[in-house]
Amino acid sequence: MVITVPDQNDWRFCIKCHELFYNGYKDSGPRSTGVCPAGEGHVQKGFNFVMPYGGAETATAQANWDYCVHCYAMFFSGYGPEKMGVCPSPAGKHEAHPDAFRFVIPHDVAETPTMQARWDFCVHCFTMFFSGYGPGNMGKCPTPHGVHEAHPDAYRFVLPHPIRPKAWLEDQHLISGDGDIHLLGDGWTPNAVVRWAYSYEYPGLDGVRHNGFADFADTEPLNTGDSGSLFTVWDADPKWFNIVVQFKDGQTGEGLSASTRQRV
Ligand SMILES: [Zn+2]
Ligand SMILES: [Zn+2]
Ligand SMILES: [Zn+2]
Repeated sequence: MVITVPDQNDWRFCIKCHELFYNGYKDSGPRSTGVCPAGEGHVQKGFNFVMPYGGAETATAQANWDYCVHCYAMFFSGYGPEKMGVCPSPAGKHEAHPDAFRFVIPHDVAETPTMQARWDFCVHCFTMFFSGYGPGNMGKCPTPHGVHEAHPDAYRFVLPHPIRPKAWLEDQHLISGDGDIHLLGDGWTPNAVVRWAYSYEYPGLDGVRHNGFADFADTEPLNTGDSGSLFTVWDADPKWFNIVVQFKDGQTGEGLSASTRQRV
């Protein structure tokens, strides 16, 4: 039996304040990235965290974490309505939506390739923030304290980012006879403009294999949250083979590649 826990992606680290904030409204106009204590909206960097919600609290997962409808930060509401922390928005204190997801966040478990440690509860503003850059670099707290601060005896949170990007090429020459190579993918949410490049081989008239390569070029961010044809790479000569496409997140450098089987 597989037990699946519901979760929500698009939770991000803000490079300006170090808070965990929800970036799922990023394309919906002004203030769509919330209110950052460092001014204007939050700015994402790094992993796309996938936050579990709705489950029961356990010895290694704490309940009562909420999305703030004003600043978009993840904050702890477990001290009750009179103690909601400090929000950098005009509301002054964080507020959860009554119908929103209630997050249950892992803590004091091992860091893994898809779980990042060194996330903490700020005792001043009640947000979740990243403390991994060390004591002199704790981000920006909206309280007079100025920087976020963890309690030394508090839970140390470990956030899941189980994104497993996949990419593959579909050779239309084998399907419909035209020359297009389609790049498809899913499970990846780039942070910025995607840089992509391709390489290939082809048989020359002299019978020798030649190599071709196009250096990295920029393209618009590819939303690979859904499977589908992302773009047509090029109208390929059917004689080309061993085609490899590489693409990289323009901000983090995180990348992946896809290749075709040899054409016949
Ligand atoms: Zn921020
Ligand atoms: Zn808030
Ligand atoms: Zn704080």
